[in-house]
Amino acid sequence: MENINPLSAENTWKEVLSNISGKIPTQSFKTWLEPAKGASIKGNVLTVDVPNMFFVDWIEEHYRKIIEIALLNIVGSEISIKFNPIERGIKPKKEKERLYRIDSHNLQKRYTFKTFVVGSGNRFAHAAALAVSKSPGQAYNPLFIYGAVGLGKTHLIQAIGNYVTENTPGSKVYYTSCEKFLNEMVDAIQNSTMIQFKKRYRGKDILLIDDLQFIENKEGLQEEIFHTFNSLHDTGRQIIMTSDRPPIEINGIEERLLSRFQWGLVCDLKPPDFETRIAILKTKAELAGASVSNDILIYIAQRIKSNIRELEGALVTLLALTSLTDTKLTLDSSKQMLDDILGREKITKISIERIQEVVSNHYVITPQALRGKRRTRSISFPRQVAIYLSREQTDLSLKAIGKAFGGRDHSTILHDYDKIKSLIAKDDELKIDIEQLSKKIKEC
Ligand code: ADP
Ligand code: MG
Repeated sequence: MENINPLSAENTWKEVLSNISGKIPTQSFKTWLEPAKGASIKGNVLTVDVPNMFFVDWIEEHYRKIIEIALLNIVGSEISIKFNPIERGIKPKKEKERLYRIDSHNLQKRYTFKTFVVGSGNRFAHAAALAVSKSPGQAYNPLFIYGAVGLGKTHLIQAIGNYVTENTPGSKVYYTSCEKFLNEMVDAIQNSTMIQFKKRYRGKDILLIDDLQFIENKEGLQEEIFHTFNSLHDTGRQIIMTSDRPPIEINGIEERLLSRFQWGLVCDLKPPDFETRIAILKTKAELAGASVSNDILIYIAQRIKSNIRELEGALVTLLALTSLTDTKLTLDSSKQMLDDILGREKITKISIERIQEVVSNHYVITPQALRGKRRTRSISFPRQVAIYLSREQTDLSLKAIGKAFGGRDHSTILHDYDKIKSLIAKDDELKIDIEQLSKKIKEC
């Protein structure tokens, strides 16, 4: 009988890597994924060897989803993946393994108030989250937390869930992202199980919805959220939401939802100040079981200012690189590694000029037209595509992008970005176009 899966583990993994290589920043790809090797395929489990536990943790958390999708595309059937640490010296504590597991409330145990460092940028949101945890349905309902990416929204909202499940066992807490909610809703519509779907969400005591900006311009989803909200709120049950922008800035949000989101308390998360960044690094080093000297932590905190995920990423990357070469982490070696990590990413940084050049070539118009005021479709559509790519491929602010496109304001940029994003979801041809443009832009 023929082998069902003719690909070897080694080749399958190589294919996965080539499939995802353009989708992850080059330096991260080199650090985390290149050292991994396909080891075996048994049954429907692909085992991949990685150097040590740092790698297992990091890959699990950051790349599992993208790897699973690539694998499904390549093999064409469900195959699960397991990362195996070769160096067993650095062992995870049992406790740590448990922390990464997702429980029946869809919560990760490691996101707690205990591991959340409080500083000037998050003091208010933290206090509100704690108040809601202590008296759900009574303090602020709903609680709406917003802030830029990597500032702790998911951590904080899940900390509420973990606090309640620990202190009031049996309460029906559920964490979901707005996107997951939509996917489940679509499934329920297709399978005629809407009644069960509604019942499931409306039967919660505490509902946590992450990344609510996803409701933008989606009428059906807004409608369902509206009724879920009413059903919970009317019976005194707690709703907590996060978003990357305040409710009022969510495009196409219905008035009735907007007003409800503002019934309770709306608070924001701001980037951490220097002391908070140091405290966060200390907590993370401790959690990783590593001791890192203060001068190194100070150096990292000076280099990375506005995104806690990146701050944490830099530290963990340093620890992983050190564990690979078995060297001791010194200030000098850290500086060099960090300069390498951050510096190299800077070199490959994409400029808006490059994006404008590639997009205008593709649509046979001039880059000046993209920056100009004309609104005919033959120009405004390419302009929207260029704006979309600018937001996806650079880390410039909406304001800076607006400036590069002839002084447009941030809400226009957001609107254009969202428009293309939702078109891509529906239009395969455009999706392929955008993929090709992205590739071209990176070729410079
Ligand atoms: P967001 O959802 O806003 O994009 P996350 O909640 O995913 O951000 O946070 C990114 C990373 O930074 C997570 O690993 C989280 O644990 C960490 N983090 C964010 N804020 C804090 C904080 N105040 N203290 C400790 N860790 C934090
Ligand atoms: Mg998040």
